[in-house]
Amino acid sequence: MRTATSAVHDGVRSFEGHGRRVTVDREVASVWDNHRQILATASESFGVLMGTTSIDRRDIWIEAVTTPLPRDRRSRFSFALRDPGHQQAVSRRFESSNRSAIYLGTWHTHPEPLPTPSRIDLRDWGICVRVNRGRPLAFVLVGIEEVRVFVRARGRFKPLRPDIGSGEIA
Ligand SMILES: [Zn+2]
Repeated sequence: MRTATSAVHDGVRSFEGHGRRVTVDREVASVWDNHRQILATASESFGVLMGTTSIDRRDIWIEAVTTPLPRDRRSRFSFALRDPGHQQAVSRRFESSNRSAIYLGTWHTHPEPLPTPSRIDLRDWGICVRVNRGRPLAFVLVGIEEVRVFVRARGRFKPLRPDIGSGEIA
């Protein structure tokens, strides 16, 4: 039984703003849908984003994600990507895609309907941007009702606007 609606599943699979557009693959959307923290006891889920970008890097396509692995740390309000399996997944996908699919950032769940980044999230994303300088990156929060995609623009993390219906094309 569905207890909440999901933005990505109700036809919103593309997000725009700040000169960028992030499109989410249908399978990725359903992974997020299945990991929403609907139950009071559910732990945060998380992983890395993988996919391709346009040459001008304005378009980002999220084509695959990892999910929590045995050596990660999980709790209801925090997580840590510790398992080397995430990096291995990125390397495998890079090789199997003729070196076109790359690491594009991270996603994680929040136990709130419309998720907002915590202080720790903003710090972690800032580190990620510094470590991956020059790469196009996106950061995804999967709330109970909404999925939000953030990008770094003019020194701050800003949410993109959901582009209603665009996910149904093609
Ligand atoms: Zn968070």
